[in-house]
Amino acid sequence: MTAQRLAPFGTTIFTEMTLLANKHGAVNLAQGFPDFDGPAFFLDAAADALRSGQNQYARMFGLPALNRAIAERWQRAADAPIDPDAQVTVTSGCTEAIAAAMLGLVNPGDEVILFEPFYDSYRACVAMAGGVPRIVTLREPTGAARDGLAARGAFWFDPDELRRAFTSRTRVVLVNTPHNPTGKVFTREELALIADLCERHNAVAVTDEVYEHLTFEPDQPHVRLATLPGMAGRTLTLSSLGKTFSLTGWKIGWAIGTPDLTRAVRAAHQFLTFATATPLQAAAAAALARTDDCERAVAGLVADLRAGRELLSSALERLGFRVHTPAGAYFVLADYTGCPGARGLVGEPDDAAFCRGLPAAAGVAAVPPSVFYQNREHGSRLARFAFCKRPETLREAVRRLEVWATGRRADQ
Ligand code: GLN
Repeated sequence: MTAQRLAPFGTTIFTEMTLLANKHGAVNLAQGFPDFDGPAFFLDAAADALRSGQNQYARMFGLPALNRAIAERWQRAADAPIDPDAQVTVTSGCTEAIAAAMLGLVNPGDEVILFEPFYDSYRACVAMAGGVPRIVTLREPTGAARDGLAARGAFWFDPDELRRAFTSRTRVVLVNTPHNPTGKVFTREELALIADLCERHNAVAVTDEVYEHLTFEPDQPHVRLATLPGMAGRTLTLSSLGKTFSLTGWKIGWAIGTPDLTRAVRAAHQFLTFATATPLQAAAAAALARTDDCERAVAGLVADLRAGRELLSSALERLGFRVHTPAGAYFVLADYTGCPGARGLVGEPDDAAFCRGLPAAAGVAAVPPSVFYQNREHGSRLARFAFCKRPETLREAVRRLEVWATGRRADQ
């Protein structure tokens, strides 16, 4: 029944792996959602908003107070004033913003450059818009002092491969930084090359910056592509509340760009969801206005995530995984082929078989990254583990993985 343009994409891996985790009572390190609540002042603001009669449609492109709050945050982060009504669109999560951006900007046959591994909705959104994906591969670090223009130890791309991907048909390049699933934070040099190519080819950059505040290495700060010279006019910056404030179920996202780019996003958004849940927008506006509390909440989350990253990475390393330490976002990509337990699950490297077997074998769920690649063999030795979980959840996952990987009994 499913239309041809969507049939190739099947059911998203997050739905599949969470079902599998639940079936086996496994610790779910597959789907990237926190197993703790967002800050109390956000939750209180939502309860207040629900009870204060803010329950009818919001303005199509966002509740005025939320557009203002988002514009103020942008101004603080990017040091550039924007018009909240002409340049900010509130969407139902960043996932909707990505869909609206693709549908609003891409004509059938236009090319869209994606870096693989890519978040799974990108390919599907390009397909829904009738666009043609052009894939540039983020490669595993080689151990050299520097790969390409990337930070040491980070996934990297070959600058010439990117240059070749741009053609006269390029409409959009979609950049996700900090990057899911590799944890890469794009360097200023990488972004400068992207900016230069966008200018040369008159292309638009769409950036998915949902992990913008979740970075762990002081020498690898998040850089906003829109702040590079000449890029404010051709960048659509997408982000959300979900990751920054551990409120993934609120589905409050946004798109920031010139009035022209904003019109393109709204052309699609008005027919996708029309408007985003009013009480949650009101709550978000009220909570974001408490800037000191927001800063404290983010700092606390980053400290907790950094501890979670160390706990999980060091355990995986002890068990024979080769870990790619992430500089941002909240996932660890690890090569499982050196882990003795993996041999019982797969002969040849096959991340899908490994991750499908892990919940039953070890009681832990992870995501197979090959679903994020066009060239699936690039991900076949890797598994993605989320560490946006309470310390006790991560400790239980580690305990289970140790029992499984070492063959020890749980009570020993
Ligand atoms: N972005 C999250 C992840 O990568 C979850 C996405 C989803 O469940 N659709 O795990």
